[in-house]
Amino acid sequence: MEPNGTQNVLIVGVGGQGVILASDILGVVCMNRGYQVKKSEVHGMAKRGGVVYSHVRYGAQVLSPTIEPGTSDVLLAFEPAEALRWSKYVKPGGTIIVNSRKRIPPAACQDRRMDAPTRYPQGIEQALRGQVGDVRQFDAEELAVEIGDHRMCNTVLLGALSSVCEFELQDWLGAIAASVKPKTVERNQKAFLAGRNAQFAAMRDSLPSEKCEMSRSVTCLDAPEIAIHDSWCKGCEICVVVCPQACLKMNERNRAEVVKAEACIRCMLCEWMCPDLAVRVQ
Ligand code: SF4
Ligand code: SF4
Repeated sequence: MEPNGTQNVLIVGVGGQGVILASDILGVVCMNRGYQVKKSEVHGMAKRGGVVYSHVRYGAQVLSPTIEPGTSDVLLAFEPAEALRWSKYVKPGGTIIVNSRKRIPPAACQDRRMDAPTRYPQGIEQALRGQVGDVRQFDAEELAVEIGDHRMCNTVLLGALSSVCEFELQDWLGAIAASVKPKTVERNQKAFLAGRNAQFAAMRDSLPSEKCEMSRSVTCLDAPEIAIHDSWCKGCEICVVVCPQACLKMNERNRAEVVKAEACIRCMLCEWMCPDLAVRVQ
């Protein structure tokens, strides 16, 4: 906390990960506790790869909405490369909480062969630890999938954030209930608790190594399963356009559908690029 009592939390990720909702919920928690809150954000990056960030500052009196480099108490990163990009904002003695699940931007996949290397940064974990002592990492998406909805990854991460904030559990659960759609309150609260409770065990896990990730893609030679969640698809056509093998097309209802699964090379672009997390390739 700064001398004037202002607390800085920087939340970063890429489009579609729910960064803004997470920061909104944090803002509600702070306001309900009587703090003044100021936020500054970039949003609307619906396409994967677009950087999204939200500065949240709270305290008795907050004079500016933006966090200066080297002054953030906590960096909550929804994606490892984004953690690296924003790590210079963390103050000495600050904390980085990072989701280990990568979102590799299309520009880093210039060679789309199945075993081709990407230009995604290597050695992120070591680089973060070199800058900040307290780096806590875990696979938030895996916890969200266990709950039954991988879109809840942002609430899982919010649960992890809650472990380094001063607020009570009920503050968070109330803010979640006030901020999400009524039919998703229970699931979001469950995801939040998973992040909050699983953090210590999960954060002992290290980031998956490049070697593991590559060997998985090289050795999985069965026919790929491409699943499109029809009710989540908004018909933006991004997956159809990015697929190098023309495996997908838009149907008469303007929803994406699989037409040539056997040609799939598991480049994963459709899954990574879908702004609504509607595509899963296995
Ligand atoms: S599946 Fe995703 S990327 Fe494809 S059309 Fe639907 S919303 Fe767009
Ligand atoms: S269906 Fe998806 S994973 Fe398969 S080739 Fe097309 S974009 Fe790549």
